Amino acid sequence: MLLMLRGSGQKALLARAEECLLAHRGDNVFYRGLVEFSNICTKDCLYCGIRKSNKNVERYELPHDEIVESARYAWEHNYGSLVLQSGERCNPAFAEKIDHLLRDIRQVTKGELGITLSLGEQSLETYRRWFNSGAHRYLLRIETTNRELYRQLHPRDDKHSFEKRLQCLKYLQNIGYQTGTGVMIGLPGQSAQHLADDLLFMKQFDIDMVGMGPYIEHEETPLYARKEELWPIRERFLTALNMIALLRLMMPDINIAATTAMQTIDPVGREKALRAGANIIMPNITPSNFRKSYLLYNNKPCIEEGADDCSDCLSLRLSLAGRKLGSNQWGDSPHYYKRIKR
Ligand code: SAM
Ligand code: SF4
Repeated sequence: MLLMLRGSGQKALLARAEECLLAHRGDNVFYRGLVEFSNICTKDCLYCGIRKSNKNVERYELPHDEIVESARYAWEHNYGSLVLQSGERCNPAFAEKIDHLLRDIRQVTKGELGITLSLGEQSLETYRRWFNSGAHRYLLRIETTNRELYRQLHPRDDKHSFEKRLQCLKYLQNIGYQTGTGVMIGLPGQSAQHLADDLLFMKQFDIDMVGMGPYIEHEETPLYARKEELWPIRERFLTALNMIALLRLMMPDINIAATTAMQTIDPVGREKALRAGANIIMPNITPSNFRKSYLLYNNKPCIEEGADDCSDCLSLRLSLAGRKLGSNQWGDSPHYYKRIKR
């Protein structure tokens, strides 16, 4: 199976994907400044370090003005786009808060900064409201498309249903968001066949953007009890590279992120992902004093750095990967524009 290629076969696959990316999307890499503005979450996904039941987490929420300032930072440093991410909260006060934020960010950045949301499952009305207030991309990972595996990774209640997650992705697409999804790679109980099915799902769903990366265990989560079943960490990483490469070949015009989890495993993991067909990087611009509280998994990198350290380090990393920054551009996925015309 192509996903399990290693050695010279893998090298050839990754090179083919890089060629495909350069032919269809050029050598630009687009930045999405990532603001992890709150780790408060009402859900209990069994793999996630900031799940509601983890009492060791110091909960935080960035004040409104600090989030707007982070957006201004991204805009002034020509990042082109911003991602607002947090734990999941689905209530009228939260919907209102985000609406207010979106309007203020648009005003401060003169509507020039692209805005992606990654705030989990919400009602159709809330998604629509945020779209109308200026968010135009939304990231909601399906995590795995295998229903049985999904059940094993989440508490068995209505709040954590696969069907609901899928329904939310459909809402987002119908509203008109550039719709992003993704999966974790190397989960206990996951097989190469599951991952192949995940790629087919992304193609069939006609997704515009993808952020996928290795699953990395966190000691304070229930899934840690299954650590004996884990794939070796290097295997998770190498398979993630093949996932990126194969998806690039299957969907040449979408956006694919080189995720932080890749860098957690390999110091140049994000650069390797770029060379395998990824074209998006999400520099963390969360104020550094909060980063240590947004630990989804063990050894998350860059939690001590400030935003400037991150962007300097990233430009160097880009040039080492033979790529350049698509400075000040939204870097939308052409796939989206083709899809909405159909
Ligand atoms: N709460 C929102 C949601 O779940 O969609 C957005 C934030 S959530 C922290 C973002 C992503 O982190 C999840 O979709 C999941 O794939 C990833 N994640 C959580 N725990 C992880 C882990 N242990 N290893 C790798 N990725 C993880
Ligand atoms: Fe909450 Fe998202 Fe973590 Fe699930 S993955 S516990 S929804 S932050």
